[in-house]
Amino acid sequence: MYVQLGGGTVEKEREALTVFDPTTGEAIDTVPALTKADIDRAVETAAEGQREWAAKPQTERNRILRHFAELLLSRRAELGELLCRENGKRIAEAEEEFDTVAALVESYCDKASHLYGVSLPNGTDATNCHGDMIVTRHEPVGVVACLLPFNFPVELCGHKIAPALAAGNAVIIKPPSDCPLAIIRLVDCLHEAGVPAGAAQVVTGRGSVIGDTLVSHPGIAAITMTGGTETGAHIAEVAAKNLTRCYFELGGNDAFVVMDDADIDWTIGQALEGRANNAGQVCCASKRFIVHESVAGAFTDKLILALKGLKIGDPMDRSMDIGGMISEKARDEVVRQIRRTVEQGAKLVYGGEPQGKNFLIPAVLTNVTGAMDVARDMEIFGAVFPIMTFRTAEEALALVNNCPYGLNSAVFSRDMAKAISFAERVQAGSVIVNGGSNYRTATMPFGGYKKSGVGREGSSHTLLEFTQEKSYVLRNVLGNL
Ligand code: NAP
Repeated sequence: MYVQLGGGTVEKEREALTVFDPTTGEAIDTVPALTKADIDRAVETAAEGQREWAAKPQTERNRILRHFAELLLSRRAELGELLCRENGKRIAEAEEEFDTVAALVESYCDKASHLYGVSLPNGTDATNCHGDMIVTRHEPVGVVACLLPFNFPVELCGHKIAPALAAGNAVIIKPPSDCPLAIIRLVDCLHEAGVPAGAAQVVTGRGSVIGDTLVSHPGIAAITMTGGTETGAHIAEVAAKNLTRCYFELGGNDAFVVMDDADIDWTIGQALEGRANNAGQVCCASKRFIVHESVAGAFTDKLILALKGLKIGDPMDRSMDIGGMISEKARDEVVRQIRRTVEQGAKLVYGGEPQGKNFLIPAVLTNVTGAMDVARDMEIFGAVFPIMTFRTAEEALALVNNCPYGLNSAVFSRDMAKAISFAERVQAGSVIVNGGSNYRTATMPFGGYKKSGVGREGSSHTLLEFTQEKSYVLRNVLGNL
């Protein structure tokens, strides 16, 4: 597949990266492996594209972005299939990513139309400026680099480009190398809808090769990256040389706390939704199950029964409950992490066997303790349910917070006051009461405490992060009336 760069087309005859279907192992396509010179050209062109885009009135930008959303939805079936093939995720999950992008565009266009500055009251301080008028406006920051992970590449692209473009910025999108194809097609839709070529570009190539060139470029005004914590920390270090503003959505090891008075049948459905979705490759999946000892037996038995009923296989088959993982390598890494947890003393009571190239039977681990890696900093990116038990709420809280991550979390109890007072002491960006941690809306501020990230995504926040507030001072205009 080609990419549009700097207003021109880079053909795939260049040195290329191959994109594989992880379910079959077949090569689907190739994309150009761009060079440092290509990245420089993209950033230069983006500066011109940004000026052209920002010069359009908000209503015109909104009209173009809404047209882009319509184009995406009209191609949902075709694009969903492409994403399903390159990623291994279930077809329904792939299609939903495009729906989410359309919803995000709507949310941010609405919000951008009402991004008001302020007018400051005059004469409120002792300085000699009583005749001056001061008003503020939110102006675009410039060119925003958007770096994306493999697990929800299209949806997460929407979380970045919708606010950045609605606010009048240009975007340079770095897709994941394992599955860049749907994003390239998404950018085509942006151009077709009327976004100038320079204002929306996609740069393909390994992050380890072109990443530093992009994030250290002085023409990049802001970086928004979703991915692993280690990658985020590296980018922060490189970007610090230019003091480039950075926003990060990073790794997680979310807790799922089941109190003794929880509705166990309800928690099982939420555990499956929270952990098995996208074959467990979800940043805010529930990854540590912290269950009161009086209900742990029932919880474990019912969970295993429910898992036995799930169908795992061909992601294009709509009757499947769980699709494939991004690669055989990623699946094998999860098998290794299960083995490591068993070596540390846990008991594998269900599943954990690899199937085909990239499938995994979900695993349930019991006898897990707070001292094990899985209970602390080892994020497992696959459908694994490590179960720990507790006696008191204090013990549960200590297990929840015994972790360098703090993305989402979940607490289940029929006693709302008990659940909320527990939630107040949880160190995480969101606490879902009586629901799994795999929860996110277009508007809510989504993001992490501790090593799970910096900043918040959601239409309640991100327009402010992708704009800068400028004060306009009009001297002596108020006169002496
Ligand atoms: P990753 O390996 O960190 O990659 C993320 C992106 O960064 C990719 O586009 C990657 O490019 C690029 N990259 C790699 N090295 C780079 C460098 N030196 N400079 C600039 N960019 C670089 O993450 P992943 O494996 O795709 O995603 C899984 C992780 O993302 C998990 O930890 C998960 O929890 C986290 N995640 C967090 C959220 C959230 O909202 N908090 C959401 C989803 C996922 P290449 O693909 O070319 O290597």
